[in-house]
Amino acid sequence: MTRLPMTTLPAKLHGSIVPLSPTTVWRWARCRRLYLLRNLVQLPGVDAGPWSAEGSRIHAVLNHLHREGSCRDANVVERMVASYAHGDDERLRGFITRHARRCPVGDARYEGGEVPLGRFHRSPPPLFTVSASIDALWVHDGILDARDYKTGAGVVEDLSRDVRARAQAWLLDARARALGLRLRLRYEFLAPEIADDPSPWDPEPDEIDEIEEELRRAAESIRAEREFRGVGEPAVCRTCEYRSICADAAPGSDGPENAVEGTRG
Ligand code: SF4
Ligand SMILES: [Zn+2]
Repeated sequence: MTRLPMTTLPAKLHGSIVPLSPTTVWRWARCRRLYLLRNLVQLPGVDAGPWSAEGSRIHAVLNHLHREGSCRDANVVERMVASYAHGDDERLRGFITRHARRCPVGDARYEGGEVPLGRFHRSPPPLFTVSASIDALWVHDGILDARDYKTGAGVVEDLSRDVRARAQAWLLDARARALGLRLRLRYEFLAPEIADDPSPWDPEPDEIDEIEEELRRAAESIRAEREFRGVGEPAVCRTCEYRSICADAAPGSDGPENAVEGTRG
């Protein structure tokens, strides 16, 4: 297969505002060539990537389920299974059951699922935005409890060190403060092979300030980048959606897919 050569690009790649998202920041941290292909060229993936169709379905089921009622209500659960399982009822019930063990109980109010949020940074330059769809928002005990459903096999040990969680925290911080609530972010690892989640994270105001500066620096380096060299590391390349066409791919990384990350774009 033809491989894309390394290239040097003209100076003006972005408008005056750099658009970021948790996934974009994660992609930028992994590989600049990957960022170029996905975010700037917007080339559709040519190889199997870390996102699965099942992941998207589980997100849709849980959102629909919470709009209908409780994930602990057997009647609602069975309606979802009948609508979405497509013959693998036990597997879908398993995802719902593992989620229900993590779902807020008591007087928690469901604020919504797949909630689109955006936040703008003006100064110091460069200008940037962060936008994302938040899997689920709950309110209880003076807390805005944001959930990110993970349906793949990846593991995150500490949310406060995960670039995607950090970008989500900065985004959610504005919503939490507008509602007079404290922010909590939790990843729900729902795949059968994952035993437990990392601890929920309640970011402090000084952490939010640190994150804003990190995002600003990322936006600055994105604007300055011209070469977009690939990282060429086997651990990164083996789940990359461009590994069979990338000139910088690590040797052997265009073989059969052998790992999933459990994130989604
Ligand atoms: S194959 Fe590797 S070097 Fe090439 S874009 Fe993907 S992650 Fe980057
Ligand atoms: Zn629930």
